[in-house]
Order: sequence, then structure tokens, then C-alpha cells
Amino acid sequence: MNKYNFIKKQDKEIYRSFLGEEKRQAEGLELIPSENYVSYAVREANGSCFTNKYSEGYPGKRYYGGQDFTDEIENLSIKRACKLFGAKYANVQPHSGAPANIIVYSALLNPGDKILGMDLSHGGHLTHGHPVTESAKVYKFVRYKMKNISTGEIDYEELEKIAKKEKPKIILAGFSSYPRNLDWKKFKKIADSVGAITMADVAHIAGLIAGGVLENPFKYGFDILTSTTHKTLRGPRGGLILVRENKDFINKINKTTFPGLQGGPHMHSIAAKAVCFKEASSPSFSKYCKNILKNTKAMEKVFKEKKVEMITGGSDNHLLLLDVYKTFNISGNDAQNILDKIGITLNKNVIPDDTKKPLDPSGIRLGTPAITTRGLKEKDCKKVAEIIVEALEKIDDKKNILKLKKEVLKISKKFPIPKSF
Ligand SMILES: *Cc1c(COP(=O)(O)O)cnc(C)c1O
Repeated sequence: MNKYNFIKKQDKEIYRSFLGEEKRQAEGLELIPSENYVSYAVREANGSCFTNKYSEGYPGKRYYGGQDFTDEIENLSIKRACKLFGAKYANVQPHSGAPANIIVYSALLNPGDKILGMDLSHGGHLTHGHPVTESAKVYKFVRYKMKNISTGEIDYEELEKIAKKEKPKIILAGFSSYPRNLDWKKFKKIADSVGAITMADVAHIAGLIAGGVLENPFKYGFDILTSTTHKTLRGPRGGLILVRENKDFINKINKTTFPGLQGGPHMHSIAAKAVCFKEASSPSFSKYCKNILKNTKAMEKVFKEKKVEMITGGSDNHLLLLDVYKTFNISGNDAQNILDKIGITLNKNVIPDDTKKPLDPSGIRLGTPAITTRGLKEKDCKKVAEIIVEALEKIDDKKNILKLKKEVLKISKKFPIPKSF
């Protein structure tokens, strides 16, 4: 555990919260599919001297002096990102995933233009045009869905029909709660037939693509990838935009990032991204990604045996979506709360065309990236899945809940959070 010596000395209140969170992370099992544990090298970079520096602009074209080392850092970060994902151009300045998407929309579209994206209850992300977002006021979002919720197959015929009718400027492929693979080739073909730009938001699966266990949309000619760096990619909290080859796109994206929408880049975060891109290009990272998929399959097997209703019937990636309302007759919120009590953290989630409300939906979403980082193997993940089912089956059995809490603690202690990989 980090000692936080300076904070301990000068700021007791903050120190207490740090200790609390360190303990929470160490003693519980993290199943939120968008979370992970970074290496101490990434933490060091993120907490480095670069947090002191202003460097508005881009390498070689900054507004302030003293940029020898920021230029080195940003150039390296860009070079590594491009190599990792097979892109010609990258912008590593977006502060997070949501700004990365907003930057791309603003760079390439005019107000009122259309974006064709995944229906939100079928797995699309808030930033893909949820009515509560500012983007939804500026652009017109149209939707595609799954054809068959029991297999997860996207309705590509409908997608094509909508594309032909609506003529979107961007076709956006990507998700945050969809457990299957998208057919990048079909997306590209449909986009080409209507002259749309192809954008893949791979925030959740960027690590799995970098690790070579899921297909890279660039291989099928996608124009743009946006991502976070803190989910399966196991880097600092941050965003990333990659452009396969179109120079005009990257020029517009760079201008829109700065000065269009952001101010000075967070160079400490860009340094930490560079460290993470190097880690993600190692053979051990590929192995980690293979284990993520194996561990998800192990959990899927248990849920299948126990007849838990899984949206799309299972998973091809790092996450699973369970219909707890149908299976256990409890809401996603109740499921999240009871699992919190035994030290398993995951999140409530809407299921496709959910009849219940987003704050108390029918489902829960869980994933294996964080527990795989901790070293859990298939048999351990099976055990975790069994504990989840038992907790949800006997939600009112207080004695049993205590017993399960002890089991979770035992597993957590057996798999401490690693400092390097
Ligand atoms: C997580 C996520 C984002 C947003 O990332 P933030 O860093 O939370 O802003 C965008 N798109 C998708 C698909 C995501 O899963």
C-alpha cells in the first residue's frame, strides 16, 4: 500500500479517506467492468512533476517556454499509441472518454448533423446521445439495436435501412454494456454505402484490442477510434483519439481539442498514458487479456448452470449483463446493494428496452478486468460467480450474508493488488 507520508503529515482529513479507499480496494472484489488497478509505474507518472507544467499547444508549437521534456513525453505517448493500435495519427490530450467523443463530434460535424449510434438500453454509452447530454441538443442521434436479445446479434439490415434513410455523417460503433463483438466489416460497408465516417468508441475494449484478443476496427478500415485509457487498457484516467490515416481529420481534431474545447493538456496524465501504452505492448499484457476472456467464460458457465438470465446468453468480451429481476425477482439496485455488503462491487444496469427505471433497473453489469489484474484464475472466478448467485438467491438471510462476506475477504486477501505486472 502507498504510504502517503506527506499527506499523512499535513492533511489528516484527506489522509483518512485515502486509507479508507486503499482498504476498500484491497479487501473487496472489484467487478465493475470499467475499472482496473494501474501499476505503480503509472501511478508515479500520474503523480509526477509534470503536474506542475503548462504546455498549451502541441509538441514543437507551444505557447509557453520550458517544453523540452513535455515535448518528449507527448511525442512518445503519441508514437506508442499509434504503434499499439495501428494508427497514423493520435491525440493524447483529451481529459477523458466523454471529452474525446465530444471533440470528434465537434471537429467533424456541424450542429444539426446526424450520428447513427447504438440504442442506449442496448449497450450504447451516455455520450452517444442520451437526451440528458449537451451533445443531444446539438446533433441529431438516430439508433440501431440488437435484432435478437437472446444472442446479441445486431440488426444490420435495420442499421442499413436507417443509414440509407437518415444519411448520418458519422456511424458510431461502440458500447459500454454489450457483451458481444460488433461486426466491424459490416459497419464499414454500410457506412461506405452512404458516405458516412466510421467511428468506433472502444473505451471498454481498448485493452483487449491492444492485447490482440479482440479485432481492431482499423483492420476493417474504420476512420477514427476514441477511447478511455483507464478501463481494460489499465492506464491513468484519460481519453485518447486515434485516426487511421486521414490527415484532414487529425488536423481538425487537434484544433478542436486545443484551443477549441480544452485548455492546457494534463501532461502528468499524458506521461502516465505513455507508460501504460508501453505496458500494453508487452507479451504479459496479451496474456492478461487472454485471461480476462477466460475468466469471463468461467463466470458465464456458472451463471448458465444456475439458470441465471444473461442478456445475449453470455459474453465474448470482459463483461456480463444479468437480468436479476427476471431471475431472482429483485431489482438491479437491490442486487448492487446486497453485493456491496459482502464486498463485491458492481453496478446496476438497464437491460435492453428495460421496463424499469434507470435508477432502479432490471439488471446488473459485471466484468473481470480488475480481478484478472489481481491474479484470479478461472476456478476463483467460478467461486466468485457462485457467491454472487448465493447472495442474490438468499438476499434476506443475514447469517448467510455474513458467511459470504468472510469468503469474499478470504479471496481478496489471497490476491493482493499487484504493484507491477
Ligand atoms: C466509459 C465510456 C466513455 C466515457 O469515458 P469517461 O472517461 O467516463 O468520460 C465513453 N464511451 C464509452 C463507450 C465508455 O464506455
